[in-house]
Amino acid sequence: MVDVVRKDIKNLHLAVYPPAGRVRVAAPLRMSDEAVRLAVISRLAWIKRQQAKFEGQERQSAREYVTGESHYFQGQRYRLNVVYHNKPPKVAFRNKTTMDLFVRTGSDTAQRERVLLAWYRKQLKEAVPPLISKWEAILGVKVAECGVKQMKTKWGSCNKDARRIWLNLELAKKPVQCLEYIVVHEMVHLLERHHNDRFTKHMDKFMPQWRLIRSELNRGPLRHETWEY
Ligand SMILES: [Zn+2]
Repeated sequence: MVDVVRKDIKNLHLAVYPPAGRVRVAAPLRMSDEAVRLAVISRLAWIKRQQAKFEGQERQSAREYVTGESHYFQGQRYRLNVVYHNKPPKVAFRNKTTMDLFVRTGSDTAQRERVLLAWYRKQLKEAVPPLISKWEAILGVKVAECGVKQMKTKWGSCNKDARRIWLNLELAKKPVQCLEYIVVHEMVHLLERHHNDRFTKHMDKFMPQWRLIRSELNRGPLRHETWEY
């Protein structure tokens, strides 16, 4: 994805920004669209190298689930506070900015991660059924089954014949309207399997602001932009 801005400048400027590797081009006012396109294409190899670098940095800063780390829930950023105790693990909000993660004394990174991910899963499992009911009524479709799992390349998926929907666990971290957008997107696949004009027309009709939400979803600090839907 490339953002082009027109400016009163002499030469074209091209930059790649972290964390998603978004490409921004500042182009002279008089430069033709075709010339801008060719300039971007001629630097594709460099763009790809920059994006790979950001992706590498992101992987290095892998989560450790320790006190002080930032974690997201429903689009809000929280400071994680790990509490070791000898009772069942749980997650609780201390206040608007702090998320307490209660784990067994001696828990390692993998165990702390498991507790938090299980909690995310539970939150999604509670949030999704009301959304599905709401949109079943609007779209006139019926979802047979909806599951949550970790996915590397997709926010969601839909098997039209089985009427089964999968949602990415990462959605628990995103604003609720992003979750709803993916639910609607996958449910619209029950009306139209492919990402064609008909699909887009349905989205425009039922959720006119979907493009805005999609860009919000892809702007977050969590993942790069190569998500497919
Ligand atoms: Zn899709």
